[in-house]
Amino acid sequence: MEKYTRKSFLGQLQLAGAAGLASIVLPSDPHVPRPDLASTDPALTGPSSSSGKKLNIALCGLGNYAGLLADGLEASQYCRLAGIVTGHPAKATAWKAKYKLPDKNVYDYQNFDEIVHNPSIDLVYVVLPNGLHKDFTVRAAKAGKHVICEKPMATSASNCREMIKACKDAGVQLAIGYRLHFEPTHLEIKRLGQQKVFGQVRFIEASLGYQTYDGKEAATGYQAGNPAHWRLNKVLAGGGPLMDLGIYCIQSSRYVLGEEPVTVTAQFGPTRAPKLFSQVEEAISWQLTFPSGAVCNSTTSCGYDVDRFFATADEGQFELSPALSYGPFLGKSSKGPIRFPVINQQATEMDTIAKLILENKALPSHITGEEGIKDVRIIEAIYEAARTGGKVKLV
Ligand code: NDP
Repeated sequence: MEKYTRKSFLGQLQLAGAAGLASIVLPSDPHVPRPDLASTDPALTGPSSSSGKKLNIALCGLGNYAGLLADGLEASQYCRLAGIVTGHPAKATAWKAKYKLPDKNVYDYQNFDEIVHNPSIDLVYVVLPNGLHKDFTVRAAKAGKHVICEKPMATSASNCREMIKACKDAGVQLAIGYRLHFEPTHLEIKRLGQQKVFGQVRFIEASLGYQTYDGKEAATGYQAGNPAHWRLNKVLAGGGPLMDLGIYCIQSSRYVLGEEPVTVTAQFGPTRAPKLFSQVEEAISWQLTFPSGAVCNSTTSCGYDVDRFFATADEGQFELSPALSYGPFLGKSSKGPIRFPVINQQATEMDTIAKLILENKALPSHITGEEGIKDVRIIEAIYEAARTGGKVKLV
């Protein structure tokens, strides 16, 4: 069986991308459960009043994920890759040629603020290391551009507050790159939990980790086998796999329960490469309790592979594995299999956001900065709990 590394998921996602937006069509098989897309996200299914217009997007930071976003932009209906922001002139040349971008829409990190004078860019998508999210979101907002900022929103809740304020002051919208909020399998587990299809959920296990630091994936230039990688740097990353991957576990427990956690306990480790992970954690596990009494138990790591979600409720259970990565997601519930067509997650995310912005509508709060800061507050509490060994209250 193929090991589920980040690299193999990237490959699967590229295949999935070929399916494009057409694959959002829901299955006709009556035995396959349907997520309530229409009520969850009217922008995905409702009639368009944006009449062929496209939102012009500049990608800021041309790393691995920006490459997937560029593919998503090509598959999108309401977006266009209109510009780039990069620190590497060679990348600027390659991207300009590949995507036929005019020189005037190409920026570096120093001249980025000049974007204020460029009416052919509507939105800046910040895909930089986490520690740079705040500065570039604030700079984009000050230039009058809408912003999508990748997860985690920032490396501290106070930075998140600055970002929300800057966007509010500038009258621009701020979204966080929560691609799973648009993915049918995740809309389904959200429905199963929040609508109590199997009664009250009592216990969740949600975990995501990849064995990445041993050099296996360093050959691809992708991950943290390289000691100089930004993901190992506290200032640039804010933390280890909790910031990068654990956030998906936190998110899924919150949207399946439809509740906010009230207490956190946490433990660092196991740590097998203490030299490499001298600034950020190699692994961490945590437990969240929720107002209903439900508990979520999670782990994330750079030292072992795990990608699963399991929920048990009063009258049944549901689970996914793979669950929290790029998919394709596979699952089952007490009523049978959970399976949905593969979609291009990036295209769907950006199209939903772009359509609302083009129609001058407010983005739903579950994808805005107000959602992003909730996760960052919980991450801060998890670190505090692991550091102190105590129980941290969130309310
Ligand atoms: P990469 O390391 O692949 O790319 C980051 C890019 O940021 C670099 O290529 C570089 O672009 C730019 N950059 C600017 N300053 C620095 C610096 N000091 N050190 C390193 N890079 C710098 O990271 P990813 O693309 O994997 O991640 C970027 C963001 O996207 C992160 O916040 C991450 O959490 C998020 N992400 C989200 C995913 C999702 O599924 N939603 C999946 C993967 C990542 P350039 O050379 O153009 O200057």
